[in-house]
Amino acid sequence: MSARDPLGFDLVVIGGGSGGLAGAFRAAALGARVALLEPAELGGTCVNAGCVPKKAMWLAAELAHRIGQAADLGFDVPARPAFDWQQFITDRQRYIAGIHASYRKRLDAAGIVWMPQRGRLLDARTVETGDGVRLRARHVLIATGSQPVRPDFPGAELGVVSDDFFHWNGAPPRVALVGGGYISIELAAVLQSLGSSVEIHARSSRLLTASDAEIVEQLEEHYRHLGIGLHLGVEPAALERAGDGIVVRGSDGACRGPYDRVLLAIGRRACTEGLGLDAAGVRLDDRGSIEVDARQDTSAEGVHAVGDVTGRATLTPVAIAAARRLMDRLFGGQADAKLDYDNIPTVVFSHPPLGAVGLTEAQAREAHGDAVRVYRTKFRPMLHALADSPLCSLFKLVCVATGDAPAQQRVVGIHLLGEAADEILQGFAVALKMGATLADLHDTVALHPTSAEELVLLR
Ligand code: FAD
Ligand code: NDP
Repeated sequence: MSARDPLGFDLVVIGGGSGGLAGAFRAAALGARVALLEPAELGGTCVNAGCVPKKAMWLAAELAHRIGQAADLGFDVPARPAFDWQQFITDRQRYIAGIHASYRKRLDAAGIVWMPQRGRLLDARTVETGDGVRLRARHVLIATGSQPVRPDFPGAELGVVSDDFFHWNGAPPRVALVGGGYISIELAAVLQSLGSSVEIHARSSRLLTASDAEIVEQLEEHYRHLGIGLHLGVEPAALERAGDGIVVRGSDGACRGPYDRVLLAIGRRACTEGLGLDAAGVRLDDRGSIEVDARQDTSAEGVHAVGDVTGRATLTPVAIAAARRLMDRLFGGQADAKLDYDNIPTVVFSHPPLGAVGLTEAQAREAHGDAVRVYRTKFRPMLHALADSPLCSLFKLVCVATGDAPAQQRVVGIHLLGEAADEILQGFAVALKMGATLADLHDTVALHPTSAEELVLLR
């Protein structure tokens, strides 16, 4: 774009969350003139109402568990220590304010024009800001993220969503979580550990229906042990006021509760409203997400989309990786750059955490039949054994074999439930992505005594 056209840009980014910021920074580093539109706090869901504040709460819950274990092991601390939620969220928000400040500084340093405005496409080359300024763009990146779905059953307005959770200033005494996915699982254990009495209502017969069934069974055992009530296989059909709280009426007609708060976590939908997608010729898919091809291109030439708004592997590092590769292609001369969506590792920050990469056992059997070999180990991590807690970790490898020798067994799935699973998985995900075999794991000397070593000792 000409330097004489102050409203002309090589790239206009709509949305300053994980994907939008990553795309803007990479494009600017490659010499593009970039404008970024973000009307809310920089950082989007991840920084403000997702990964970061959630992980902070998870860490608080971890500390509560550790203190309980310390009490069991002879430390002179109460088994259930008092927790000053207010003080903790002050520290949490201070940490997040630091991230905002760092983003502002980096935007300035990169010469990116940040406008605290909503953006809307007038056509594929023109973006109008909320205050009516028209920006001309060679390329537009849509990275507007997603928002919680609200069910349409009666009384749904009595429930709250995860965004609201981050404004709470204490653990409500009785909480119901509706949904059996990531958010429900994560917030259930946080709340239970920090003082609430929690029950989960999920329509399927098990939690985390996309995860490996055996691992989830073990997770459910942990949750019951924590005291979390699991109401599985009953579709929540209504919320009703009753007595001093709210009850969840199931499709079986039974009411469960009452609860002080009901948190609805039944998935998220793409933020596409008011974006002018029709005017620009940007198509949606049948789930209402922006349709993109493997290169993140939409149906409108010059308009691209990344992250949750595309509905594909809705995780922060995926939005970031897709955006960076897109910019490498558009402005960095890397004609073939695109994100490989296979074998993306993921961690559910449950208690204990659950990490997975690749195929579940069921997916592998469906694809490879009798060639599938499964190796598993169930063990008590040392701290649990010392404290005589019955809870076990479960680590599982799914391999596809062309013969019986370990060198003929390629690892296609790794599923970890247990302490440190969140930290252990990353390196093993690299190995899986590189095509590691069981023999490669056996050839690697164990780190002792750790939980991680169990994976190279599996026979
Ligand atoms: P977002 O980060 O949501 O950013 C979108 C931005 O677009 C927002 O800032 C919004 O204000 C802005 N916007 C919307 N409309 C417009 C418009 N018209 N004009 C301008 N700007 C606009 N992922 C993980 O990998 N690990 C985790 O531990 C994890 N935990 C999570 C916990 C919770 C409770 C939730 C809800 C999500 C979690 N996620 C996690 C998912 C992760 O937060 C998202 O995948 C990620 O934030 C998606 O990035 P994005 O750039 O697509 O969208
Ligand atoms: P999920 O897709 O993980 O889970 C949704 C849950 O709601 C499922 O149990 C689903 O049941 C259930 N459900 C869907 N529709 C209904 C309905 N109409 N009535 C009752 N139950 C319903 O969504 P979340 O909201 O938990 O999280 C959204 C996304 O955010 C995640 O998929 C993930 O990509 C991301 N995220 C990532 C995290 C991480 O990386 N640690 C943490 C939090 C969120 P069923 O399985 O039967 O369909």
